[in-house]
Formats: sequence, structure tokens, C-alpha cells
Amino acid sequence: MKKAINYLKSLTLKELLKGMGVTGKYFFKKKFTIRYPEEKTPKSPRFRGLHALRRYPNGEERCIACKLCEAVCPAAAITIDSDVREDGSRRTTRYEIDMFKCIYCGFCEESCPVDSIVETDIHEFHFESGEKRVLDKEQLLAIGDMYEDKIAEARTKDAEYR
Ligand code: SF4
Ligand code: SF4
Repeated sequence: MKKAINYLKSLTLKELLKGMGVTGKYFFKKKFTIRYPEEKTPKSPRFRGLHALRRYPNGEERCIACKLCEAVCPAAAITIDSDVREDGSRRTTRYEIDMFKCIYCGFCEESCPVDSIVETDIHEFHFESGEKRVLDKEQLLAIGDMYEDKIAEARTKDAEYR
């Protein structure tokens, strides 16, 4: 009996019309989806993305190899080796971040006494093999060099916000 009723109902196309009604209702409403990458959703000014190592305006690297970032990192993603230079200053000989381990907590940049390691707002990056997930010092400095203006502006705004 139930089957027969369902069959008769299907002949009236009631379910189909009901579905089309829902489609029609949302057709002219504001869309929830966007056309990435042409369109982008808003990002928090405090978003934490790709890391960078910064330099001073004279080109000298800021990092003094204090290893605070390495010690504070909850994911043990940072590896640092250091040595004393001829001029007596201590600098890193190795600075690596395993980006697969990183949880983007921001503790490294919070702990840095010289504003050297920072997290940029860059989130569109990828690695083409597992080995490339580890960013070394040269790569991190290169990212810092490339985005220094943007990083400096963001750090100034962040300081005002606090
Ligand atoms: S953001 Fe957090 S997890 Fe990532 S390297 Fe810095 S301290 Fe470690
Ligand atoms: S990046 Fe900052 S916290 Fe990390 S070792 Fe260098 S100076 Fe110290």
C-alpha cells in the first residue's frame, strides 16, 4: 500500500519541485563559497604563517643564537647550532625549522629578544617533497629579506595593538 502511495506521489513530482524550490530560494542569496585563489577570505591581522629570520637595516642578521626559541618550541621543531665569530659575537651556524612539526603557536617569535624569528601572514606555500619540509637558515633569511617591509609594518601595528 505504502509503495503504491509513494508511486502516486512520484507522479506528481512533489519532491522534485520541493528541491527546486530550495535551490531557487538560495539562488539569489549571498554566496558562502568564494572563487579561491582569485577571491580570498579575510585574515586576522595576527594570523601566524610562514616563518622568516630578519636582519637589521645594515644587513647583519638579528639572531644572536640565544636558543630561546628552540627551548620554548612545544613541537621541538627548531634546531640550532651556534659558534662564536671572530669578532666575538655569537651567531647560529645552523637554524632549521621542521614545518611539518610546527603547530604555528607563535611561541618562537614571542620568546625572541631581538625580533629575529617571526611568523609572516603568508599561508600559501607548499613543499614538493618530504625532505623539503625543513627550512634552513638561508631559506629563512631569504624569506625575511623578501618580505622585510611587510614584516616591519606588521610588527609596528602589532606593537600598537598591544
Ligand atoms: S610556531 Fe610554535 S611550533 Fe612552530 S616553530 Fe615556533 S614555537 Fe615551534
Ligand atoms: S631567533 Fe631569537 S630566540 Fe631564536 S636563537 Fe635567535 S635570537 Fe634567540
